[in-house]
Amino acid sequence: MKYIDQIEMKGKKVFLRVDFNVPMDKAGNVTSDTRVRAHIPTINYALEKGAKLIIASHLGRPKGKRVDEMSLKPVVKILSGLLQRQVSFIDDCVGEKAEQAAANMKEGDIILLENLRFNPGEDKNDLEFAKQLAALCDIYIDDAFAVSHRAAASNSAITVFVNICAAGFLLKNEIEYFNKAMVNPARPLAAIIGGAKVSDKIGLLENLIEKVDKIIIGGGMAFTFLKAAGYEIGKSLCEEDMLELARKIANKAKQKNVQFLLPVDAVIAKRATADAEVKVCVVKEIPQDWIGLDIGPATISLFSEALQGVKTIIWNGPLGMFELPPFSTGTFAIASTVANSGALSIIGGGDTDTAIRKTGQSAKMSYISTGGGAFLELLEGKTLPGIAALEK
Ligand code: AMP
Repeated sequence: MKYIDQIEMKGKKVFLRVDFNVPMDKAGNVTSDTRVRAHIPTINYALEKGAKLIIASHLGRPKGKRVDEMSLKPVVKILSGLLQRQVSFIDDCVGEKAEQAAANMKEGDIILLENLRFNPGEDKNDLEFAKQLAALCDIYIDDAFAVSHRAAASNSAITVFVNICAAGFLLKNEIEYFNKAMVNPARPLAAIIGGAKVSDKIGLLENLIEKVDKIIIGGGMAFTFLKAAGYEIGKSLCEEDMLELARKIANKAKQKNVQFLLPVDAVIAKRATADAEVKVCVVKEIPQDWIGLDIGPATISLFSEALQGVKTIIWNGPLGMFELPPFSTGTFAIASTVANSGALSIIGGGDTDTAIRKTGQSAKMSYISTGGGAFLELLEGKTLPGIAALEK
């Protein structure tokens, strides 16, 4: 795969695929610029090198139709503020308007195209639509890791029509950190897996068990494993149809000499609410009407000890219902252990980034992935179409 810093961009029209899928409030204001900021190093680099920059993204799921609330227009102000430069908005992403705007660009100009997903060809990875996108540019740069797990016209088919294709710095970082953790890890390598359901994490667990030295399980999914091991778990989250698989996974870990750690105690409540009465109990003694909603203090110690001396940590999924303060302690405490462990720590998948940002420890982690689903699929050992297209 080529990277942006291996390419001559001076005076060239560069089509940059980004993820500006920013959160917006009902009035149409962008409520966080994190996703835009993530691409600034790539954008600034291209501008410094004299590119004519055509930026394209999706926003939301308009399903191939124009939906005014999902226009990328509000992002112009954010981007132009962050870059301290003028950004022009084109209210289409292909066709005459876009082509004319691209043709009239000078070095250092920036245009932002309208939401790619307003066109039905985007999600269908349509060759004809990709050809139209490709007609706008000389060079294609992909920096949108978060959509790499889905083949779309703007990250897959477009590479058929553009001769020079490369990854931007965000995508490069994602690939490099993932490789450091999973391809050539410093060992011992530990995986912390939490979140709600075992069923969402089967592929990931099966793949990780082949590669890691330790697996630490928390969150709602831990209770399915505990039930599979013969414990009564009260009204805690349990997927009955996953019990057999949970047993298989735990046995496989044993066979492979992978240390497999489950919670030994839990923070329990009768209701999952912020004002619920809470108790701590060992996992053998969860009363019938109670729900396990966080790992308990003995588990925090057990997991923290297991992480001592570990050289690489991969973390996906919160260890409790962290959104509610009474059940956030476990995730916060382990975040602190990971942050201070000295290990290479790579965090991501689903909403794990949100959970870790809430802990206030994110700056101390080695890398927090920008890809929810894409990071999960990497952990599952899958080839991502958006990355494969650049490797061709
Ligand atoms: P996931 O998207 O699978 O990583 O799951 C994240 C969700 O799991 C969060 O919204 C947490 O509130 C939830 N969660 C974590 N621990 C528990 C638990 N013990 N019981 C129920 N839900 C949980």
